[in-house]
Amino acid sequence: MYPNVQLHIAGTWRDAEGGRRIPVLNPATEEEIGSVAHASRADLDEALDATQKGFAIWSRMSAYERSKIMRKAAGLWRERVETVAPLLTQEQGKPLAEARVELAAAADIIEWFAEEAQRAYGRVVPARSPGIYQLVVKEPVGPVAAFTPWNFPVNQVVRKLSAALAAGCSIIVKAPEETPASPAELIRAFVDAGVPAGVIGLVYGVPSEISEYLIPHPVIRKVTFTGSTPVGKKLAGLAGEHMKRVTMELGGHAPVIVFDDADVDATAKLMATSKFRNAGQVCVSPTRFLVQEKVYEQFVDTFLDHAKTVKVGNGMEAGITMGPLANERRIPAMEALLNDARQQGADVRLGGSRIGNKGYFFEPTVVTGVTRQMRMMNEEPFGPMAMMLPFSDFDEVVDEANRLPFGLAAYAFTRSAKTANAVASQVQTGMMTINHLGLALPEVPFGGVKDSGYGSEGGSEAIEAYLNPKFVTQAGI
Ligand code: NAD
Repeated sequence: MYPNVQLHIAGTWRDAEGGRRIPVLNPATEEEIGSVAHASRADLDEALDATQKGFAIWSRMSAYERSKIMRKAAGLWRERVETVAPLLTQEQGKPLAEARVELAAAADIIEWFAEEAQRAYGRVVPARSPGIYQLVVKEPVGPVAAFTPWNFPVNQVVRKLSAALAAGCSIIVKAPEETPASPAELIRAFVDAGVPAGVIGLVYGVPSEISEYLIPHPVIRKVTFTGSTPVGKKLAGLAGEHMKRVTMELGGHAPVIVFDDADVDATAKLMATSKFRNAGQVCVSPTRFLVQEKVYEQFVDTFLDHAKTVKVGNGMEAGITMGPLANERRIPAMEALLNDARQQGADVRLGGSRIGNKGYFFEPTVVTGVTRQMRMMNEEPFGPMAMMLPFSDFDEVVDEANRLPFGLAAYAFTRSAKTANAVASQVQTGMMTINHLGLALPEVPFGGVKDSGYGSEGGSEAIEAYLNPKFVTQAGI
């Protein structure tokens, strides 16, 4: 049964003041499956007051104690994966097997940050005079406002939540209204593990109204957002005006560079599986397939063969490998990119249309004959769409990879160590994966450059984003 999702404020699960609710739809059936509480201004004020009190408690707790509570939350979460997975599939659409992977990965993330909590080391800087001690200590930045999207409803929350808690910060999460139940369950695991009242707040409502209220508010000291570049720029601007620390994990348009010395068939197969994961609604999704001329046709043919085996349908059913798009507005967004490409002479080799008229299903789509002028080659498709473009030499492909303002993830395939080193150093990207898929583990950085944002949501850099260095110099007396 899908729940009617509540807010979590000051240690209490409750409905919004005034009782407003937002309906939640199943994107596979378009049926209303439940609803989520819509926070009022009074609810936000209460959440702000609670987060300030929560910060006072949590930031003074030892890292050892915080870590213990976080590890307990990870354990509780692992026990609940099987119960939460169907909620995630019903609200977001991804196949049940993918939902389980996302949820299980969240437990690893919590545990990794729980360990990292105890390694927020400062340092001792050698002094110029005897008897002076110069210390750099790390302090939590303060209460955090976190805004997370609907594509990975749990994964996007757990990275921010775990890093903030590990650092000693309190946090108000504005989770996605389209997919509210699975992030609420995540927060329940932390609450049940013993995180004190006020340390975690959970609200839903109108995203712009909440961000415009929370970001400038004096209680909030740090802002973290995952979503589109235009919204990210707006929120970063607002945060800048109020001098708040910021992490921005924004859009991408990942190039996949396939050199002619790569294992072409294995690469095509790997990339076809990766492209249609979560129906392409992944910020690091492989998108611009740049394939060296000699192996271009072979790559396209093999990719098409594998793309044709994708089984689209309701993610709750066995054997389905791609669910619907998560919300209705993604369908016209995909259609607009495809219409523009068709008008400019692109060849839609597979898919290209909505499937049926119930549920937001879209065909796995492969487009060749694309040009750099087409919208799909410039705007993040955020859907099951692969664009293929041949290239002749190294410099040309690096120019193409770097042409867009995005710089989140990039992929390269080659058997030459020299080419691998060159491509890794010359492509402007936050993350580069060569000859395999190796992104998004808890222990490695996750984040972009250029219009894809700044800051990291993985690795030791992620906790640094929630810490301020304080310099203390002391003379012995
Ligand atoms: P959108 O830009 O309207 O919203 C993206 C996310 O930001 C949503 O979760 C939304 O609730 C939130 N949001 C929007 N305006 C906000 C505001 N003023 N304050 C706070 N939060 C706000 O787009 P959309 O239709 O939901 O998604 C489409 C685009 O968003 C995609 O094309 C993709 O570029 C981007 N996106 C990126 C990621 C990612 O993982 N980086 C995730 C989801 C969406």
